[in-house]
Amino acid sequence: MTPATASLPRVAILGGGPIGLEAALAAHEAGADFTVFEAADAVGGHVRRWSHVRTFTPWSMTVSPRVRAALPAAPDGEALPTGGDIVRELLEPLAATPALAGRVRTGTRVLAVAREGMLKHEAIGQPARAARPFRLLVRGPDGSEAIEHADAVIDATGTYSNPNRMGDGGIDAVNERALNHRIDRYLPDLEADADAWAGRTILLTGAAHSAQTAARALAGFAAQAPGTRVVWAVRSPQPDWGAVAGDPLRERAALNATAAQLAGGASDAVEVLPGRVTEALAERDGRVVVTLRNGSAEEVEVDRVLALNGGVGDHQLYRQLQVHECYATAGPMKLAATLLGETGGDCLAVGSAGAQTLVNPEPGFFILGAKSYGRNSQFLLRTGWQQVDDVFTTLI
Ligand SMILES: Cc1cc2nc3c(=O)[nH]c(=O)nc-3n(C[C@H](O)[C@H](O)[C@H](O)COP(=O)(O)OP(=O)(O)OC[C@H]3O[C@@H](n4cnc5c(N)ncnc54)[C@H](O)[C@@H]3O)c2cc1C
Repeated sequence: MTPATASLPRVAILGGGPIGLEAALAAHEAGADFTVFEAADAVGGHVRRWSHVRTFTPWSMTVSPRVRAALPAAPDGEALPTGGDIVRELLEPLAATPALAGRVRTGTRVLAVAREGMLKHEAIGQPARAARPFRLLVRGPDGSEAIEHADAVIDATGTYSNPNRMGDGGIDAVNERALNHRIDRYLPDLEADADAWAGRTILLTGAAHSAQTAARALAGFAAQAPGTRVVWAVRSPQPDWGAVAGDPLRERAALNATAAQLAGGASDAVEVLPGRVTEALAERDGRVVVTLRNGSAEEVEVDRVLALNGGVGDHQLYRQLQVHECYATAGPMKLAATLLGETGGDCLAVGSAGAQTLVNPEPGFFILGAKSYGRNSQFLLRTGWQQVDDVFTTLI
């Protein structure tokens, strides 16, 4: 990034996902000097990892007004894109627009962000911190490290790379670390990797949309691949599957309904065990023995473990900044407090929480996108568009 001038704030955007690129477009419109740092080799690093998954919001809720102006030919309407469609039709073309070309540094991971010349505990909550630029330690595609400077930082690094642990209370189960190589923590592409899943016994954990998506896919897969069996351990004794009354998102409603049907015994291949937490894992004769607990302990012996327990953003990144995190959700405090106050848990009901909820004690540092929701998995893209508007209209 070039040295700051009075009229051109330097904005560092961490993450080239849907919201990072939305912020990049807004930065271009605002006349800022901006750079997007994307850890993956290409934009949409996280979305590419679930490219085989169909979203539950249609194109009309996937393309923001700002992106539509930049890409008038982008798809619209009520069809549901897959993650791969979003990358191909939206993120890649967006990164190639004149507005963003040359501004996105792929293969470049931001390792840490700090304030130049100031430690975390200095000038506490004071605007004086804003007089010092941000200092970013980045690692480029060739592995070399360098320092970059910025006047404002948008952290849109998402949550997908930081899956939650399997064990009771959210910590690792006994031996979970040692057997990490036996645990799949991302939604599998069953079609592409059929041999790895067919005829296997699989322990699935988690109850939110990703786990529901996997359970539904595995139930369908088992019908074609006899011998495939799923033991689905769910923490809640009476899971409600996050169902929303009168849900206008048909695909989400269908997903919730399928989960409830599976819990009701709809598939011989899927056994749902509610009220179970994971206590320990062990290897025996090439298989994984998982101890589940529901009052008393029970063992299940499986070939594969699929742990889809959600994720939370990497807060180590801004450890040296004065970021006020919510003690309950790990999201930025003001936004988290607003979200905790929302009723019903329906992400469609959660609009913009207002620009001030995005403000941190650290001036000029903003957490946007999926990461801004902390442990709350209800984030929707359209909320992120509003966050970007809020930041660029009132805060930068
Ligand atoms: C399976 C799935 C289905 C979903 N379906 C929907 C849906 O139907 N509708 C909807 O509105 N939302 C949906 N979401 C939720 C949400 O909209 C997506 O997660 C969306 O991708 C969030 O965009 P983002 O830009 O905030 O984060 P991400 O897409 O996670 O992007 C973050 C980017 O930051 C990069 N990165 C991470 N760490 C670093 C670092 N240190 N330095 C540099 N770069 C870094 C990553 O590689 C990634 O490209 C879904 C999420 C998942 C996981």
